[in-house]
Amino acid sequence: MRKPPAQLDHLHVWHPFTQMRDWLKRQPVVIVSGQGSLLRDDKGREYLDANSSIWTNLHGHGHPKLNAAIVSQLGKVAHSSALGLANEPASLLAGQLVAAANRTTGRRTQPRLDKVFYSDDGSTALEVALKLAYEFARRTGRARASKFLSLEGAYHGDTVGAVSLGHIDLFHKAYSGLLFKSDIVMAPYCYRCPFNKARPERTDAREYRRCQWECVSKVEEKFANQKRRGAPYAAFVVEPLIQGAAGMIPQPAGWLRRVAGIARSNGALLIADEVMTGFGRTGVAQPQARRSHADTLFACQQEAVQPDFLCLAKGMTGGYLPMAATLTTKEVFDAFLGEYEEFKTFFHGHSYTANQLGAAASLASLKILQSAESRQARRRLEDSLQEALQNLWSLSQVGDIRRVGLIAGIELVRDWRTKEPFDLSDRAGIRVCEAMARRGVLTRPIGNVVVLMPPYCTTATQLRRMVSVLQESIEETLAR
Ligand SMILES: *Cc1c(COP(=O)(O)O)cnc(C)c1O
Repeated sequence: MRKPPAQLDHLHVWHPFTQMRDWLKRQPVVIVSGQGSLLRDDKGREYLDANSSIWTNLHGHGHPKLNAAIVSQLGKVAHSSALGLANEPASLLAGQLVAAANRTTGRRTQPRLDKVFYSDDGSTALEVALKLAYEFARRTGRARASKFLSLEGAYHGDTVGAVSLGHIDLFHKAYSGLLFKSDIVMAPYCYRCPFNKARPERTDAREYRRCQWECVSKVEEKFANQKRRGAPYAAFVVEPLIQGAAGMIPQPAGWLRRVAGIARSNGALLIADEVMTGFGRTGVAQPQARRSHADTLFACQQEAVQPDFLCLAKGMTGGYLPMAATLTTKEVFDAFLGEYEEFKTFFHGHSYTANQLGAAASLASLKILQSAESRQARRRLEDSLQEALQNLWSLSQVGDIRRVGLIAGIELVRDWRTKEPFDLSDRAGIRVCEAMARRGVLTRPIGNVVVLMPPYCTTATQLRRMVSVLQESIEETLAR
């Protein structure tokens, strides 16, 4: 007789970012189906997918239009190689990604993203950008050493190149011997910023901060020092508007525009990692800005910044299939042109590059995203999220609540007045999320930060439930 899935999982599956000793102690939840914001397990229990299946899902599970697009493509062909062959959905998608990425450039001095290199995941999208930036800087003589600058707490993926750009010791230290060296600079983290002189208040720390933009000065200093040494940076890598895996750390308005200007004036390329923030996650533009920022699908556009590389993955296919894209400029593209025997080719690619099913799903997802209905629904959901989150300020174990669009991070502390953090070994975030799962709401913490990132189809009732379950779970787990 066939063994049940839970048993086979325990016997053979090694889970990502998971202490497997803990995993093996309890029965796994086996997800068998999903509809909208709901996931269902093999026992018929329903859960709300409060982190969009680790930040990938946009329009909900089992969306009829996404399903239909994939089925229709499947009727033609699932995959053909991009080595030596073009295909229809990937070509159409490239055209649409370019159109969406350049819609709000505004200023003529900003680069135009005209070229699309496909891969499979966020990590590979970053890997492509860093290899291209490295080689471009070398070939154009902009930076001989081709050094990269990235932010404190940065996470850009798990392949060796992407890990080299990251600065989360817990994940990365073990592999330091394998990595190339990249420089690190202060990231804005208003709630715990050493330069923020404000006392804690019951609102997002960005709102009441008192500082002199020291975080921007730090970036300026970094670039100036490197220039003085005669080894300017090849590229500056940032997650625009909010750093995800660092702990959902949002940037105060204006930070991105300022540091992008600094990078550019120092001749460095700007790599925007929008693996998490892309495709509407960071919100619909505010009504007053709507005309100039119509239909902003990417976080950079909300600060009118155009990067030289735009890295996309997670939500690109609506969260249905693994596919990624790295957009870049004609200038970068041209540096790889030459006679065959000059060997200027970009020797890089994957077996599933430009996968037809993934591209078909992405096209369908973009169509939904760009509809007026989706925009309205997302704006309403943002309002509901903002409103529901306010209830959490009544808990003394909630130190900071930060929201950018449809992304929220709730930082748990021992007492909001002192901001004293829980030790990682207290597993406060993990315990709260386990209590939430028992109540039928699924999400994962980042250390002491609980993440809420609902699918765009989440109803106001479902959203209020996500937040009230979080509240009950904090009370149950952490109240003294
Ligand atoms: C998830 C993530 C990555 C890595 O993407 P994978 O698809 O997991 O390889 C890179 N950058 C950011 C900002 C991410 O959130």
